[in-house]
Amino acid sequence: MITERGSFAFAVCVCSWFAPARRSRDLARRDAAGHLLNPD
Ligand SMILES: [Zn+2]
Repeated sequence: MITERGSFAFAVCVCSWFAPARRSRDLARRDAAGHLLNPD
């Protein structure tokens, strides 16, 4: 799931993981995809 805050976007997951804020939604989406492939 992608959450946006101001001009930043970051990926969050139901397992309480979240990625650093990104300036681009596309990067945040990649973070999320990477987490799903490698949850640890
Ligand atoms: Zn997760």
